[in-house]
Parts: sequence; C-alpha cells; structure tokens
Amino acid sequence: MTARGDGVEKGFERYRHVPQRCPNCKRELDTSTECSGAEVEPEEGDFTVCFYCAEVLRFGSEMRLVFPTHDGMNAFAEKQPRDFASLLKAKMLVTQMLIRKAEMN
Ligand SMILES: [Zn+2]
Repeated sequence: MTARGDGVEKGFERYRHVPQRCPNCKRELDTSTECSGAEVEPEEGDFTVCFYCAEVLRFGSEMRLVFPTHDGMNAFAEKQPRDFASLLKAKMLVTQMLIRKAEMN
C-alpha cells in the first residue's frame, strides 16, 4: 500500500511495477495499492508497506524499495500528516491481516 496524495481515502487502485524483493522479508513485490484514493503510479520518495511483513518502505532511486530513514519518516509525518496517517493505517491493516493469518495456524 502506498501513501500519497491528499489523504482522502477511496477505493484501492493497483499499480504493477517491476518485480523486486522486499528489503526486509525478501518476498517478491510487484504491485502497489494506492491508499490515498488517487489514480497515480508510485514515484520516487513515496512510502509503501510490504504486503507480506508490514514493513514501511520507500521507493528510492530508480524505484528500488529501501528502508526509509528516521529523518525521512519524521519529515513526512510533519509535512503531510494526513498521508502519514494513511501510511500508518495501511501498516495497521496489513499487520491485522498477518495476525489473523498467524492465529489460524
Ligand atoms: Zn516484506
């Protein structure tokens, strides 16, 4: 899930990108789900949440997924509080899904 735009939540738009591995869990990711409601493809600097491990990631140079820096996260929270809230919600939704999945085993 990618946080971007004006923070207004609507449907989830999917965007396919070049497959790459999550730097945390190493699972392959090839789709982003927009959580701001805007029909946009992710850009360098956008934040996202791994669907498999709920790690917050960022699209770095050449759209490679990287771990965000603390300064980058703090600046995002300060300058775009609504989008930051969307990012936290996305992380929470994925986390809840992972908890349900784990508890079923
Ligand atoms: Zn992951």
